[in-house]
Amino acid sequence: MLFLGQVGGAGGQQEEPSMRYQSPRGTHDILPAETPRWRALERRFTALCQRYGYREIRTPLFEQTDLFARTVGETSDLVTKQMYTFEDPGGDRFTLRAEGTAPALRAYLEHSLAGQSPLVKLSYVCPIFRYERPQAGRYRQHHQVGIEVLGSQDPAVDAEVIAFGAAYLADLGITGYTLKLNSVGCPACRPNHRDALRSAVHQHLGDLCADCQRRFDENPLRMLDCKRERCGELLANAPGSAEYLCEECGTHFARLRELLDALGIEYELDARLVRGLDYYTKTAFEFMHTAGLGAQSAIIGGGRYDGLIEECGGKPTPGIGFGSGIERVLLVRQALGVDDGLSDEIDAFVITLGAGARVAGLRLLAELRAAGLSADTDYLGRSLKSQMKEAHRQNARFALIAGEDELARGVVAVRSMQDSEQTEVPTSAVVEHVKSAKPDSEVDPR
Ligand SMILES: [Zn+2]
Ligand SMILES: [Zn+2]
Repeated sequence: MLFLGQVGGAGGQQEEPSMRYQSPRGTHDILPAETPRWRALERRFTALCQRYGYREIRTPLFEQTDLFARTVGETSDLVTKQMYTFEDPGGDRFTLRAEGTAPALRAYLEHSLAGQSPLVKLSYVCPIFRYERPQAGRYRQHHQVGIEVLGSQDPAVDAEVIAFGAAYLADLGITGYTLKLNSVGCPACRPNHRDALRSAVHQHLGDLCADCQRRFDENPLRMLDCKRERCGELLANAPGSAEYLCEECGTHFARLRELLDALGIEYELDARLVRGLDYYTKTAFEFMHTAGLGAQSAIIGGGRYDGLIEECGGKPTPGIGFGSGIERVLLVRQALGVDDGLSDEIDAFVITLGAGARVAGLRLLAELRAAGLSADTDYLGRSLKSQMKEAHRQNARFALIAGEDELARGVVAVRSMQDSEQTEVPTSAVVEHVKSAKPDSEVDPR
């Protein structure tokens, strides 16, 4: 047994440990005080998935590097600058999950989920790893919830996915967002838009940032996504994709807008919304919010990717989905003052007095827990006063005081921490007493 007091050495002086570890830059710990918020969010998301018919998929934390390079685009910022790629001892190259869609599609194809059902609806909650400059709500390991629908190009599916996003935010008490909507076209109509973009900015090419000059050649649409102010100004009057849609894309977009109107979902058309990843076709959307994020930022981003499954080696299959950063959503909730009112109350704190009461007290503790109640006790040999303090600190509904004297009489002193009223309850009836005092609404599915 090593006692902490001895670590400092014979001198008894406390020495600073020679090394202090920190979580890697851009990552964060989710501490016990915060996990209830995370669980509440995940619980609401999961409940929505059930209502909308989305089934959860869990994929590995890392994938073959090539999966992301192929699907996201070899020249995208994500692939060239932001991936956590490593070689394993066997010499294979892997990348920590850099986004949520490609792994889900890889699994969809690998396990022939299309063979089980022509329309597959998936959901996930997972960490995402990107080497980014850390800022409000942006981390190198952040977490996302997301959904994907594979197998239909019906604009009603686009409407459902967007409606899901709106319902998710509503369930979380988030108001005041802006839904931005665009259609980025398809391989048939995109070249026209690309050409129009190139000729619109050609004369200013030298004034664009180095990234945009590269994008000009590789994928001019991405210039619209540039966050640099100067590029934004130069591209302010550049043509939007919606002006160049082919008939199919135009009809699809018009139908989606009709459906969103019919569902009462408000949106703003944003011709500049292109999303950062190469694989989007037709519908692109972002739910934007400013609260808690410094600038207007996407809290949900998604779109259609009708060519992506083919790109992953499958048969041509349409798909659409969204991802939503949990950290950002929690920041928005916090800024809006929305919380779940989750109490960290416990039902009972068992106070034992005297060695003779200890075993009976621990048995009572076990019975409370077995009955589904939250209960704790003192393990530090503290005085009655200190144990009462601890019961307060833990927000116990009841302090159950088991002293040798009470136990001898077959009772436990039950003290309501709210009104300090104390009664004696037969030991065998204590569990029922605590249970009956618990409001139904607080029976938590956690
Ligand atoms: Zn098109
Ligand atoms: Zn730029």
